[in-house]
Amino acid sequence: MRSALLLSFLFVAFIMNSTAQTPAELVAMWEKEHVTTILPSNVRHKDLQKYLEGLKKLGIKVDEVGRSYANREIYQAEFGKGPLKVFLWSQMHGDEPTATSAIIDMFTLLQKNRDKDWVKKIENALTIRIVPMLNPDGAENYQRRNLQGIDINRDALNLQTPEANLLKKLRDDWSPVIGFNLHNQNSLTSAGRTGKQAAISFLVVYGDAAKTTSEGHERNKRLVSAMIAAIQPYMPGYIGKYDDGFTATAFGDNFSAWGTPTILIETGAMHGKDEMFLVKMNFTAILTALKSLADGTEKTFSPVAYESLPNNSSGSLFNFIFRNATLVDRRKPDATATTTDIAINVDRRRAEFVAPAYVRQVGDLSSFFGLSEFDATGYFVVSRNSPSLKTGQLAELLFYKKSRTIDWNSSDLEKMFPPDAIFSLGKWVKGELGSSK
Ligand SMILES: [Zn+2]
Repeated sequence: MRSALLLSFLFVAFIMNSTAQTPAELVAMWEKEHVTTILPSNVRHKDLQKYLEGLKKLGIKVDEVGRSYANREIYQAEFGKGPLKVFLWSQMHGDEPTATSAIIDMFTLLQKNRDKDWVKKIENALTIRIVPMLNPDGAENYQRRNLQGIDINRDALNLQTPEANLLKKLRDDWSPVIGFNLHNQNSLTSAGRTGKQAAISFLVVYGDAAKTTSEGHERNKRLVSAMIAAIQPYMPGYIGKYDDGFTATAFGDNFSAWGTPTILIETGAMHGKDEMFLVKMNFTAILTALKSLADGTEKTFSPVAYESLPNNSSGSLFNFIFRNATLVDRRKPDATATTTDIAINVDRRRAEFVAPAYVRQVGDLSSFFGLSEFDATGYFVVSRNSPSLKTGQLAELLFYKKSRTIDWNSSDLEKMFPPDAIFSLGKWVKGELGSSK
């Protein structure tokens, strides 16, 4: 009886160990224990400092390793004591914040779960260094470049910025065997020429234009395949491959050339999901890669999953498309109205600000995709702020049922003839057209 109990206990222990931390468990763990609570686009340097104080309190080594052009502190944190050196940096472009939160959560949860076998494996196999928010001035201003107006990611050779100098020094002094270069891409990048956004794109970065491969490069392909397997169930069809053209002045390319084969992760957006979902996916992907490095399971992955990703595509997706709208030119209301499609995009802003929306295309958009599409058949549409609707304008649209008789020359059109629906600042503020999908 007792031995049966012992056996079943051992069996359960074995099962728990052998299936330690599946991607689903990592997702659940993040949902329960993550500490970053501010939407990444709203995170300022002082918020990062608070997050780092939290890491320090847990016993993680956090050091100021340099200063930005405006003298803001840049930090590096370290976890683990293993021989394999892994280096991750985020937000070298100030308005690309998702991974900063993800790697803070990752270090927090690793440190809090050091009693778990899978974390012990990571701790003993790897030494992980992270530099969250390499460009704090850019982050503060929510801009790509540093305060000299230089793109740090085109400064790997010239080293005109303090941030690029620091990044190069951190690599050269330590010679990590893997680099993770963490960015955000345009939210309207699609995975192939489809209606699906590339919510996350990967690139195993070459170190030269000839695309010379190496053991580290091949290992990185397998690591990306492991990451794809982990997050694909949560975003099927939403993963893309970033353009692999060689950029001679960029850091990922040069890290790879200098002996630190690098993986680029570009987070985009996913319709209907918020920024925290993407933090969770970054967390799950990156931690899966580190775990599979530590326990050797990366060797079981085929590079094919990575190699067969659809390429990133741009230009085929819009935030909104209105199909078959009848445009009225208020200066020539008696002329035949034009029936056409209208595409609208929303500019990128911090989540705390209202983002303006602009008319980006007018015409036959049958070969394009809208994340939201509306059927404007049966409606007249006029611009709220100008006599005729044109690309480049703020998208302030008034919709009138075609059965109505409207005096388009009325001086106060909106008051004299209340529209059936109004689209303003990227949303319906009155009425709503039906979906065309
Ligand atoms: Zn970037």
